[in-house]
Amino acid sequence: MSGIVAPSGAIRLGEDTTPARLAPRVDDSGRILRGRQFGTPENLPIDALHTAMANASTNIPAARIIDGKALSEVVRNSLRSRIAAAGRPVRLDALLVGDDRAAGIYAMNQAKTCAEIGIEYVLHRLPASASADDVAGRVLLLNVDDAVRALMVHLPLPGGVDTERIQSLISPDKDVEGVNPANIGNVVYGRRSLVPCTALATLEMIESTGIQLRGKRCVVVGASNIVGKPIAVLLMRTEATVHSTNKFTPDLAALCRTCDVVVAACGVPELVKADWVKPGAVVIDVGINRIDGADGKKITVGDVDFAAVSGVAGWISPVPGGVGPMTVAMLLRNVVDAALR
Ligand code: NAD
Repeated sequence: MSGIVAPSGAIRLGEDTTPARLAPRVDDSGRILRGRQFGTPENLPIDALHTAMANASTNIPAARIIDGKALSEVVRNSLRSRIAAAGRPVRLDALLVGDDRAAGIYAMNQAKTCAEIGIEYVLHRLPASASADDVAGRVLLLNVDDAVRALMVHLPLPGGVDTERIQSLISPDKDVEGVNPANIGNVVYGRRSLVPCTALATLEMIESTGIQLRGKRCVVVGASNIVGKPIAVLLMRTEATVHSTNKFTPDLAALCRTCDVVVAACGVPELVKADWVKPGAVVIDVGINRIDGADGKKITVGDVDFAAVSGVAGWISPVPGGVGPMTVAMLLRNVVDAALR
């Protein structure tokens, strides 16, 4: 039997039975159907949930787990079916420059992940000595190659190569990571486009709970160009009221406490504490931080104090096993969208 450790240290029963363990459903293109993973109604009134929780005994399991791994599996299965039904090959082309070890391992894993769902993976390599013009030239060549329909550039690029310049050269129609400023702009306009994968993953995970975002108050802790800002804009598109915050935001804990949805994307280990969170709120933890564990070994934690916050929140995504796997699934979905366009 598994469970969630409550702030008191007691194991809260329920992880086995949490609705997140029920099979979530997706539509034909791999979009998670709202609320289906929890079997909640479309317009779940979060205030009613707060009241229910306030009236509930303290032993009642609080947060339901938004299981990014389970959700990502569902998306992957639907992509497998889409690829099989399309009857034409789907391929991801990736450019790796230099010999950064982590980037090399990431590329290898990506090849495996793609193979698992029937996506062909072509890795283009340039040496660490490649100049900015060499890298730009290769991206431009891949842009005009009709066989290349889904393209990404692995980071980091060697020193002296301007990452943003290279990203801005990737054809917006092929830019499966959504890093070209044109695609970021399309997010603002709400146009159909390739959306940055982590932002997409975050929104899908919130919507999978079934809460109706329109009129809700949301806060995004962290405002980087590729993570925090696109998340805030995607939330704005739902007609939620959105606070975009950063390390200079005053009274951040008090602001978060007023919000129905808290997205933590700041890169500060376990910054969001239990007393930052309104009872029943949806908490999405985007952070990935490597810290020293109790036994001196490195462990991965998010930007949310999971053990404490899961005693207060209505829903919470874990780290690992939350936004990370869903981000990978959203990249794969962008690849399939771009390739079968
Ligand atoms: P970043 O360093 O580029 O930006 C951090 C942002 O957080 C900035 O806006 C900064 O002002 C803000 N911030 C920093 N300290 C803060 C504080 N104390 N209070 C409020 N705001 C604060 O980081 P990033 O690239 O946006 O990544 C954020 C986190 O998300 C990191 O942990 C990163 O590893 C993780 N991440 C996860 C995924 C995923 O797939 N799960 C993808 C990308 C990034």
